[in-house]
Amino acid sequence: MCVGAERFREGDRTVSQSAKLAAASSAVAKSVLYIRSANLMQTVMKHVAADVEQLREQFRVFLRTKMYRNTQERFRVLERVAELDRHFTADELYVYMNTCGDKISRATVYSTLDLLTRCNILVKHRFQGDSATYELAARKPNHDHLICRDCGHMIEFQESALLALQDSIAERYGMRALRHSLQIFAQCRDQEHCTHRRHGEDSTTSDD
Ligand SMILES: [Zn+2]
Ligand SMILES: [Zn+2]
Repeated sequence: MCVGAERFREGDRTVSQSAKLAAASSAVAKSVLYIRSANLMQTVMKHVAADVEQLREQFRVFLRTKMYRNTQERFRVLERVAELDRHFTADELYVYMNTCGDKISRATVYSTLDLLTRCNILVKHRFQGDSATYELAARKPNHDHLICRDCGHMIEFQESALLALQDSIAERYGMRALRHSLQIFAQCRDQEHCTHRRHGEDSTTSDD
């Protein structure tokens, strides 16, 4: 991991990353209470460490099958993406890679993210605004997102009832569910913290 990576990773803090962080931050702790009050059981999800070699092999097979070139730059993007335990936009990754000293064009970053998404290594989200947000599919399987419409604060949660629901809906229509995507757009009930986050005054704010 390059110098500055920790700082980049610090930009995204969600309650699911660690129970310790939630305890240390009253803002995040309050967010957890909001989830409970909404009967959404927050599960502290264990980070699934990405097996980089396995991802490389998955990408290699995809590129070969689809007749794409097996370039060094594409694999460099994959390696940098595998270092991150957070959501990121294409522009954020581009800046990160340049900070790390990787000589890569913005166009290559964008096109490689598209390939990695098609190969199911990345999941692409459209939260708010125009920019797509990405995360490693293996990072936290089966999680969904609760997002404050005003300040952008985001909470990742896992809800077993939703998994049961996706299975029963798919079964009802003669299909087998593979995954689902749910985004709940909400508003912070604590307006003070919401305002601080909106103005960048709270270091625990998720920047997604
Ligand atoms: Zn997520
Ligand atoms: Zn908010």
